Amino acid sequence: MAVRYNLGVPDEINTKLLDEAGIEYRTGYPLSRLTSLRTGGDALIITWPRTALQLETVLSYASQKGLQVSAVGNMTNILASDSGWDGMLICMNRLRGIVIKGDLFISCAGESLDTVINKAIEHNLCGLEELGGIPGTIGGATVCNAGANGKQISDYFFYADYITPDGKIRRMPSYSDAFSYRTSPFRAGEIIISAAFRLSVNRNTAESREKKEAYRAKRIEAHQFDAPSAGCFFKNPPLLSAGKLIEEAGLKGFSRNGALVSPWHANFIVNQGSAASRDIFQLAELVRSTVCRKFNIELEYEVKLLGKFETE
Ligand SMILES: Cc1cc2nc3c(=O)[nH]c(=O)nc-3n(C[C@H](O)[C@H](O)[C@H](O)COP(=O)(O)OP(=O)(O)OC[C@H]3O[C@@H](n4cnc5c(N)ncnc54)[C@H](O)[C@@H]3O)c2cc1C
Repeated sequence: MAVRYNLGVPDEINTKLLDEAGIEYRTGYPLSRLTSLRTGGDALIITWPRTALQLETVLSYASQKGLQVSAVGNMTNILASDSGWDGMLICMNRLRGIVIKGDLFISCAGESLDTVINKAIEHNLCGLEELGGIPGTIGGATVCNAGANGKQISDYFFYADYITPDGKIRRMPSYSDAFSYRTSPFRAGEIIISAAFRLSVNRNTAESREKKEAYRAKRIEAHQFDAPSAGCFFKNPPLLSAGKLIEEAGLKGFSRNGALVSPWHANFIVNQGSAASRDIFQLAELVRSTVCRKFNIELEYEVKLLGKFETE
């Protein structure tokens, strides 16, 4: 049965197809409930497909309705506009499942990176422990080529199955040069369904678990989870540290309208509780222009912007 919502959503967003396919969705959904920064306006419609088939249905629905589409995972690397997302947001974090064949570890896009590391350790596989505590999904980690402590997801990437904007399912094999620092070969509009990794065998599960937990604990000690953030806001310029440049520019601890350059880690911009995305963006732009003026270095965003942002 079609559910009717009265949340300021235009009538033409008739959701019968989604209801019939048993797909979870909401209309007029506040993104601030989902983003790790706890900011962002409403998505016109948001869906949570649980299978690849549901994902295909969602995409065909969006295409029929002419809705722009964006896929996200846990939204831990996203600054979502206060004006929201005027289209279909596909939240991939309920598309779950893991298959392990020898040293090949295949994970659906919506599994959390932490779950994958733990499951791998349980099965005597190791390699990803350095990424312990990164709060995203496998899909997000693969697209962003997440990394920490000298390791990145591409070190173990074998292939990923993804869907193209025109609905074709393709396999991306691993090419040695296709990934680089926080970038991957996936293009805008391509949605990862699952990713496979070749891990190393280590029967000493206690050692792997200890190592992973130590990396996670280090993040907690470094106050990474004390306030809402999206992790590092800017990419490190070649051979330099963005955090160090921001600190040397005198901005560590600087706050404006509830957005704060973290006093613990200058490359984190945190929401002190009352900031809107606009405040965070304006602070980020101020950081960028100050660093550029002082050091003649253009910082590039590591955080992804979703929706519309205007520079002043
Ligand atoms: C406290 C904290 C610490 C962090 N530390 C680190 C760190 O050490 N290293 C690091 O690299 N990152 C770090 N991050 C950032 C973030 O957690 C990672 O980038 C993570 O991999 C993003 O995963 P996600 O599922 O949240 O992706 P999202 O934030 O939801 O999305 C990120 C990007 O990936 C795209 N995307 C997500 N899923 C899919 C999919 N299935 N198919 C296609 N596109 C998709 C989105 O469109 C978006 O462009 C940190 C974040 C926080 C809050």
